[in-house]
Amino acid sequence: MDTPASRSVYVAPSLMAALDALDEGGAETAPFAGGTWIMRAPIRHEPLKSRYVAIGKIPELHAIKVEADVVEVGAAVTHAALAVALTELPEFDVLTAAASRSANPAIRGMATIGGNLATTAFAAADCVPALLCLDAEVEIASRNGRERTGLEQFLTMRSTLAPGRLLQRIIVPRRGRKTVHARLPLRQAGDYPTAIVCLAVSLDDVGDVQTARVAVGSVEPVARRWERLEATLVGHPLNAAWAAEAAAGLADEFTGRDSVEVPGWYRVRVLPGLVRRAIAALGS
Ligand SMILES: Cc1cc2nc3c(=O)[nH]c(=O)nc-3n(C[C@H](O)[C@H](O)[C@H](O)COP(=O)(O)OP(=O)(O)OC[C@H]3O[C@@H](n4cnc5c(N)ncnc54)[C@H](O)[C@@H]3O)c2cc1C
Repeated sequence: MDTPASRSVYVAPSLMAALDALDEGGAETAPFAGGTWIMRAPIRHEPLKSRYVAIGKIPELHAIKVEADVVEVGAAVTHAALAVALTELPEFDVLTAAASRSANPAIRGMATIGGNLATTAFAAADCVPALLCLDAEVEIASRNGRERTGLEQFLTMRSTLAPGRLLQRIIVPRRGRKTVHARLPLRQAGDYPTAIVCLAVSLDDVGDVQTARVAVGSVEPVARRWERLEATLVGHPLNAAWAAEAAAGLADEFTGRDSVEVPGWYRVRVLPGLVRRAIAALGS
């Protein structure tokens, strides 16, 4: 059977060694992070690369730096490690929840934040909408240097990322906002989400929404911001029922993706309920 284990895997001892190996390997070589997506390629009937560069032993890719104005997260930080590191930072509740609710504990101990953002075909990634609503940027490394870009831009280019490039870090600004992650799993837990709504808001002196970011995941093939709902929320107090009604009026801009588990229309139908739940959690 053709499995990742039967392919050639190079365990890179340093970032430079990884970049060299990726560059030399060209299009037939890819990074191997937690392996939770790559290992299931045969189940999805997808071809494997002929060579992988394992990046899990590179120290700087495991670093989490908390500064006064920014948090930087290395691409090989696992969901579990990220959730622990951010627990004491309430402005990142959305990301802590995303990292600690995805999949199940065994997977969370392996799956990386970089893999979550880089996996092109994975519509249900929990950290992608969380980081979109936090205005995250990513740093891409290659033999020739570093390049920084917004996460929204990265999502449009990740499938055509030139060989030899590696997502190195995620950079998240600190803005003291209230944030929340609402997800609807198919069953109770340990499951891909039907839909995800992530929110980050700042409030003015009288409690009205000053800035709003809303990001939706798992509904369409790629997570994205819900800008019309963001604009609607600004200038109003947090009111879960009102926001859900507004969301119901705006949800027709989404085209839900069909899958064997859920029809596309259902993913769109549940959005107002998730908005209601998210706003109610923020208001509490
Ligand atoms: C049964 C199951 C259920 C899951 N459910 C969820 C869920 O509900 N929500 C959720 O968020 N996650 C879930 N996951 C985890 C999900 O697979 C990972 O979050 C992620 O998509 C893959 O991360 P990884 O580190 O395992 O990446 P890998 O499998 O190692 O790699 C995935 C892809 O990303 C590329 N890649 C990895 N790292 C980098 C990098 N630094 N730079 C450039 N490219 C890179 C690889 O080359 C490959 O193409 C689930 C996993 C399983 C097995």
